[in-house]
Amino acid sequence: MRAGLKTCAPLAALAVVAGLIMAAQASAGDPPEWSTPVKPFKIAGNVYYVGTMGLAAYLIVSNQGAILLDGTTAENARLIERNIEAVGIPLHSVKRLISDHAHQDHVGALAHIKRDTGAEFLASAGDRWALEHGRVRGDTNYRPKPFAPIKVDRVVRDGDIIELGDVAVTVHLTPGHTPGCTSWSTTVQDRGRQLNVLFLCSITVAGNILVGNHAYPQIASDYRATFRKLAAMKADIVLPSHPDIADVIEREARRDAGETNAFIDPQLLPSLVAESSAAFETALAAAR
Ligand SMILES: [Zn+2]
Repeated sequence: MRAGLKTCAPLAALAVVAGLIMAAQASAGDPPEWSTPVKPFKIAGNVYYVGTMGLAAYLIVSNQGAILLDGTTAENARLIERNIEAVGIPLHSVKRLISDHAHQDHVGALAHIKRDTGAEFLASAGDRWALEHGRVRGDTNYRPKPFAPIKVDRVVRDGDIIELGDVAVTVHLTPGHTPGCTSWSTTVQDRGRQLNVLFLCSITVAGNILVGNHAYPQIASDYRATFRKLAAMKADIVLPSHPDIADVIEREARRDAGETNAFIDPQLLPSLVAESSAAFETALAAAR
């Protein structure tokens, strides 16, 4: 028995060390701005920003409840819920949940928010497995964090129109970053103008294996098809899941300072697509 204890001791010590290393990795993991609160604000028409400094969550409000796009990380769940309430929407009025793509920084909080709101969760077939297993599908050069699985209540297809009250949101499958990466669009009426709003799924390579990806073999051709598709689209306002990509927080500050049209930028989509497409081709060439 003593001998057993003796042989266990080094293992126990190792376990403690491993635990400490894991704790250090967890706290050092996510960028701090991902959980830094910002005051929620209206972007245009019935579209609100309810995310954090570094991760977006968008609320599209209709006359019969609201649609929430993304929940950000698990640790932010209550923060996002408070932001929704702060723009005047009770949680039980959130009727639909949708997401950008199945990575923990965008969908980590959705299982929690789904429980609290009772909302229906809509997602593409390409990300369904990942969402329902809480694990990234596709080979990456980093170890993706798992997240709480979220049951998909309804699978959406390219071109589907999601209706809620007086709001209609169109589904645009834009795979590559994940197999089911989904962009969404809607039109808003803002101060007498009609504006096209595109909620753009991530189009960065971001650690994805582009050549020899066993879990996602068609990744490279998907990226290219997505770039072609997005290059043919028009948007007055582009709202990505990482707000810094479109300077969402800065644009709000500019508008606050008097620049009324700070969010309207029809050149943003073509320039983001050109930039990301070039970066993708460079990464693909390097991977070959
Ligand atoms: Zn991602």
